[in-house]
Amino acid sequence: MILPKSNRLTPEQLSEVTAIVAEFGCKIQPIVGTVRTIYAIVGDEREELMINRLEGLDYVDRIDRIQSPFKLMDRRSDLATHRVTLGGVTLGDELFVIAGQCTIDPKNPNYFYETAAAVKEAGAHLIRGGVWKPRTNPYTFQGDTKSLDILMEGHRRTGLPVDAEVMDEQQLQLALDAGVHMLQVGARNALNYSLLRAIGRAVAERKTVVLLKRSLHMGALSEFISAAEYIAAFGNPNIILCPRGTAPTLDGYRNHPDESITPLLKEKTWAPVVVDPSHSVGKAAYVPACALAAVAYGADGLCIEAHVSPNHGIGDDPKQALTPAVLAETIAQARQIWKLRHKAK
Ligand code: PEP
Ligand code: MN
Repeated sequence: MILPKSNRLTPEQLSEVTAIVAEFGCKIQPIVGTVRTIYAIVGDEREELMINRLEGLDYVDRIDRIQSPFKLMDRRSDLATHRVTLGGVTLGDELFVIAGQCTIDPKNPNYFYETAAAVKEAGAHLIRGGVWKPRTNPYTFQGDTKSLDILMEGHRRTGLPVDAEVMDEQQLQLALDAGVHMLQVGARNALNYSLLRAIGRAVAERKTVVLLKRSLHMGALSEFISAAEYIAAFGNPNIILCPRGTAPTLDGYRNHPDESITPLLKEKTWAPVVVDPSHSVGKAAYVPACALAAVAYGADGLCIEAHVSPNHGIGDDPKQALTPAVLAETIAQARQIWKLRHKAK
């Protein structure tokens, strides 16, 4: 929609804008008001070059976009009825729970196997286990490709699907070859458009589910949804959005908990939302409350770090991981809230 600076375009201005939009396969439809006339662009008004050219005209006040910038992830897109199914559960049908260790310790695989069995018992649908880790300090444990076998053994022992974060194309290929059921794009890479494109391309055929975490630095919701659009654009709509806290931190918490963006995301996109309370607050004691708040805000699921013996864990586990008993209690309470919300509909 073109809004001119004056009440209407002169005939010369109208032919200039008509010529510009025609180059992009669009037409102009004037909407004549008593005082002001505005000009609808009929066609795909998202053409960036066309918008730039129109915005550059000195008689144009602004261009208002009617169409969403998200062709696929928008609630109004043809994909709006798409449902993501994982491990036999369709998100939206019941509260979907991902739980497991932040980081697999390749020297102590039994902790992972015990954790996997325990989170299954607690009610989780998918087991998480960090194989490669994005660590702030380069001298801390960075993960180990050997953990990929441990992760897959966890899947074989429990029968539950598993996920792992991938940070580059080599890890992406290794994870897909191993048969990982869900790929995680971590908060640090949610703005890495080359990686998003590589993942989109790699999962286009296989339709592997991708959990996209919110970057610490994504202010606008549109940035988060656009990152998902990068993946979906290649043809796989199996994408889950995962708020996990942002920067700057809320004093005392690891990040600024952002579970409250869930209803805002749901207004704009059809994508399921699974909140990660563990990285949001960063301390095991606060994780259950954040998890319950997330479900109250309408989350379709939770991604929670858990460990049979948090003090023996590595990465975030000593601080953040819930014990299986606390996890089971949190899941049970979260399910109650989920049921209350869904009954109310
Ligand atoms: C994780 O899931 O362990 C992790 C590193 O998450 P994030 O990318 O949200 O920090
Ligand atoms: Mn972690």
